[in-house]
Amino acid sequence: MTPSPPLRVLALYPELMNIYADRGNLSVLRARCEWRGLGFELAASSIGESFEPAAHDLLYMGGGQDRDQVAVARDMVETKRDPLHAAAERDAVVLAVCGGYQLLGGSYRLGDEEIPGVGLVDLETVRGERERLIGNCAIEADLGTGPRVIAGFENHGGRTFLGAGAEPLGRVIRGHGNNGDDGTEGVRRRNVIGTYLHGPLLPKNVWLADRLIELALGVELGPLDDAMEDAAHASARRAAGV
Ligand code: GLN
Repeated sequence: MTPSPPLRVLALYPELMNIYADRGNLSVLRARCEWRGLGFELAASSIGESFEPAAHDLLYMGGGQDRDQVAVARDMVETKRDPLHAAAERDAVVLAVCGGYQLLGGSYRLGDEEIPGVGLVDLETVRGERERLIGNCAIEADLGTGPRVIAGFENHGGRTFLGAGAEPLGRVIRGHGNNGDDGTEGVRRRNVIGTYLHGPLLPKNVWLADRLIELALGVELGPLDDAMEDAAHASARRAAGV
């Protein structure tokens, strides 16, 4: 039997984009791989560093406060835009949460300042004077295995508007989602996924962690004993009232 290749993960700006312990998403990916005897390799790319698009199966970026995003955004356009597009083109998974999600689009407008995005997906984000969108949130999403619930917590001042050709990750069941108005949450273009949901996201939704591993490696995963993980998911759903 040929051993399955390891999941090669690249964390983008892990020390800057890690609000709400979003780095916990990486721990879940590692655990889900290792519990199944799959290898897991973690690398990082931060300020001033580029990366090799063919060397990673899953690229991950967490959320961040506005001031960290400003520092990250310009660097990201300069050093990572081209390899990010190349990685997405070869269907590597890109998962970006909240502040990271906002930087995947065209731009993030913060008052008078326009922060550039990498243009991986067709969306714009605007931070106006209106209230922050905060609270438990549940959405329904279909990542090719039927509709499932993703439950988490959102806290964002930016409001995201998808372009005409962009598909949301899911539809809001409870909470605010992209902008509090149109019922969409997140974005999905092939294996590029952005979402406002922290939690961290993957510990509360391990089915999603497994699905991302499947998409990244082109494998089908068997079940694990998920009693504790299922309880965490149920608790996140209850918190959102779903
Ligand atoms: N700074 C962004 C906003 O408030 C994202 C915050 C976050 O990642 N939670 O819109």
